[in-house]
Amino acid sequence: MTKYIFVTGGVVSSIGKGITAASIGRILKSRGLRVSIQKHDPYLNVDAGTMSPFQHGEAFVTEDGAETDLDLGHYERFIDINLTRDNSVTTGKIYNSVISKERHGDFLGKTVQIIPHITDEIKASIKRLNKSGEADLDVIIVEIGGTIGDIEGLPFLEAIRQFRNDIGKENVLYVHVSFFPYLKAAKEIKSKPTQHSIKELRGIGIQPDLLICRSQSRLTETVKDKISLFCDIPRDGIIEMRDVDSIYEVPIVLEEQKLGDLLLDSLKLPTTKPDLQQWREMVYRLKHPEKQITIGVIGKYVRSKDAYMSINEALIHAGSYHKCKIEIKRIDADFLLKNDVKQLLKGINGILIPGGFGIRGIEGKIKTIQYARENKIPFMGICLGMQCALVEIARHKLGFTKANSMEFDPKTPYPILTLMEKQKKITDKGGTMRLGNYDCSLKEDTQAHHIYNKKIVSERHRHRYEFNNDFLSKFQQSDIIFSGINLENNLVEIFELKNHPWFVGMQFHPEFKSRPNRPHPMFVSFIGAAIKNYPKKDV
Ligand code: GLN
Repeated sequence: MTKYIFVTGGVVSSIGKGITAASIGRILKSRGLRVSIQKHDPYLNVDAGTMSPFQHGEAFVTEDGAETDLDLGHYERFIDINLTRDNSVTTGKIYNSVISKERHGDFLGKTVQIIPHITDEIKASIKRLNKSGEADLDVIIVEIGGTIGDIEGLPFLEAIRQFRNDIGKENVLYVHVSFFPYLKAAKEIKSKPTQHSIKELRGIGIQPDLLICRSQSRLTETVKDKISLFCDIPRDGIIEMRDVDSIYEVPIVLEEQKLGDLLLDSLKLPTTKPDLQQWREMVYRLKHPEKQITIGVIGKYVRSKDAYMSINEALIHAGSYHKCKIEIKRIDADFLLKNDVKQLLKGINGILIPGGFGIRGIEGKIKTIQYARENKIPFMGICLGMQCALVEIARHKLGFTKANSMEFDPKTPYPILTLMEKQKKITDKGGTMRLGNYDCSLKEDTQAHHIYNKKIVSERHRHRYEFNNDFLSKFQQSDIIFSGINLENNLVEIFELKNHPWFVGMQFHPEFKSRPNRPHPMFVSFIGAAIKNYPKKDV
């Protein structure tokens, strides 16, 4: 029988509800349980693919090509599992499904309503995580996005309220993550906003079993007693979660307060001992670096740190492997175009240009790439970063001064990047890019081959434009090696430069596969090159 843990959030957003849900997953997995996790986002978009990274951070891509909320990235990294489109639910997706059933006539004349039709669809999407023909999961964690009090979250809360009645009290646990502000003038941590949030939750019919208290510093026993009394939560169910240096410390801090035992006990699961040894070692490495380097991330979404969430984490994972602290310096590509590159990139040990869309910032990226190539600074180009690097080489090494991607100049005489035939007819934007896992065959004895130490790898994609094979031989006459190819569609996946310490472009997104305990080999190699080529700074 699967047990269910529902995680809700109170008072304000951005308090780390996703990290908490992911940490609960890690804690349960460390006790040998089979765990899955799902995010419910109350917005009307069918998926996160059509949302601006400025507003909603990165779109995380799963192996099966779903464009999802960035919390799925945290779940994969913390629990070390591969998720699918079934792990991401939105209001848009739920309504889409209910409305198409209605058009199909599936409701046999009934009035279609939020209760029970929308709530039933939400409940069915949770149960769908148990696949027929496979053993049931031990625990399913469901995080409800948004904050208690949001109008659009109500159908989700109603669905999880019904869930407990449907499958029995002992199989469901409600965890509320709430914020406790510190008032400087009063020199006190305040519990009133949380009391209101729980009052609201109880009004909906949900009594939280556990409360995770987010705060800047430790909660006093008095505050814990008070919240226990006012909110009717057992005293040992009040868990504090103060700010920590690294998000990866969260499972350890929660385990120190016996969260694992509490969860198992409340859900009547057999008690087992946690195995967090490797996790602790990884956190130790993160917190005790022997050296420090700076990586410049040049993009257009640099104002929002969440826009490059998986990139940041993948760099940190590779840094932990090398016992190296990674300082990430995000620089706006447009700003770089208008200013002195040398000055702006001073002290930077490696340059990474991540994925992106649209023309803004492109020329700044090309200028940066030229600087990295000519000055032998390790350079990693991911997706749009790779495409810009190919344009840079075409312009400055092959002499095609007007070279461009068709995305930015549809009339360019040198279309280095172009649309695949099957992409040309597509008009809808949502879910129509080349998405998810595709194989990449590695050319023997290339840098890419040495990095992966495999013949074929599979990586996640999210893009429309591809390298134009009409230019293949021209490029090959220079010092470029096309070291990774998708044989199925004859598409370039990886290129690298000879005569450069580390200059690799990849059409896929390796950052989505990096895990704290299994950093991605591309990032490990890139950081290794950045450390090697530049003077080490002592911490
Ligand atoms: N805009 C480019 C394309 O669609 C790159 C996409 C990306 O970097 N994710 O091909």
